[in-house]
Amino acid sequence: MASSLLGTKTSLGSTARAAAPSRPSLASTRLPTPSPFAAAAARSRTPLQTSTSTRTRALAESASSAAYAPNPDFDFDSLGFGLTETDEMWVAESGDDGAYAGGGMNAFGPITVSPAAQVINYGQSIFEGMKAQRSPDGNILLFRPTENAARFAAGAARMSMPAVPEEVFVRGVEETVRANASYVPPHGKGTLYLRPLLMGTGPILGLGPAPSYTFLVYCSPVGAYFKGGQLTPIKLVVEEHFHRAAPGGMGGTKAAGNYSPVLVTQLSAKKEGYADVLYLDAVENKYIEEVSSCNIFVRKGKSIKTPPLGGTILPGITRKSVIELARSKGYDVEETPVSVTELLDADEVFTTGTAVVVCPVGSITYKGKEVVYGDASDPGPTTMEIYDALTSIQAGTAEDTFGWVHPVLPN
Ligand SMILES: *Cc1c(COP(=O)(O)O)cnc(C)c1O
Repeated sequence: MASSLLGTKTSLGSTARAAAPSRPSLASTRLPTPSPFAAAAARSRTPLQTSTSTRTRALAESASSAAYAPNPDFDFDSLGFGLTETDEMWVAESGDDGAYAGGGMNAFGPITVSPAAQVINYGQSIFEGMKAQRSPDGNILLFRPTENAARFAAGAARMSMPAVPEEVFVRGVEETVRANASYVPPHGKGTLYLRPLLMGTGPILGLGPAPSYTFLVYCSPVGAYFKGGQLTPIKLVVEEHFHRAAPGGMGGTKAAGNYSPVLVTQLSAKKEGYADVLYLDAVENKYIEEVSSCNIFVRKGKSIKTPPLGGTILPGITRKSVIELARSKGYDVEETPVSVTELLDADEVFTTGTAVVVCPVGSITYKGKEVVYGDASDPGPTTMEIYDALTSIQAGTAEDTFGWVHPVLPN
């Protein structure tokens, strides 16, 4: 039987949630499909519980364009890369058609699954990371969301989960942005980080795929990823003993299981003053692959190289965009194996990812020896050039000649 996801912050004394939620429902006013809560309620043995949240539902009630403004009372100036809970999240269950069709907005809060949920026991789980940001004229822009949808579908296939169709994925992300628009920082002050999840939430005892799945999107306003802020060069250390991924494994998938194994190396590197570690290939321990959550590029003269995708490296959308941008600026860009020797001999090194954007590498330590790039405290010229080009497209201050920007218009 399907498990209910309707956990709430308070479980005592609450009443069953009726088929129609009592709060002003974005789902019921804007979405033609029924609330997944209602669907889950019908299937669940356990009565669903109402959230006691008293957070205002201003967005649902006010005119959409006014609701699109940043919350004037929120402190957008001291954001780091931490979780700030927002008002609403998108939830869709796979249902009998397997298509996640009945999604809708729900109050942000805990979800409840069986202890036998597949995801808890066997880890059927993938995620995405995206950002929405404000252009100077107040529009809210996503960056290449259909690329995330395609990667999400590929990841679902790798993990034997029914894929979320592109239009359902993009709609879930857009609705999450709309419902939490007041948390999208003012232009230049940060972004709204979006976290789509796909999880095998149905219960199963023996190893096998879950009987049902949940597609959920939550979000949080964020600032810079690394301590010190965006464009502050980071120190990396080459990891020689642990590997992040092996050929034939799942390193190219944003599967939850790829991320906790890196903590043991990441935490010890941080203790020694490094921002993160750089992984080597698992076969020869000689070619660079990527950092725990971002891709890597090296520049020598007008030549830029980044390791090729082959199943062990996450196919970053920032990586793909940077390759196109750098080519458009006259660099010779190759996706080709990069040895540690070449890395240490480079003029400039930077990492890329939605969270880090384009991040300069100030030094790399290999076998106890530190190699410094440039003057180690300022980003190199190519890093700056690519960072400026990418972020100005993403923030709507440069012409989007590649067609990458996806505005989220008020309903
Ligand atoms: C998400 C991620 C990246 C970057 O991908 P983007 O699409 O650019 O955000 C790179 N490496 C790993 C391991 C990742 O999880």
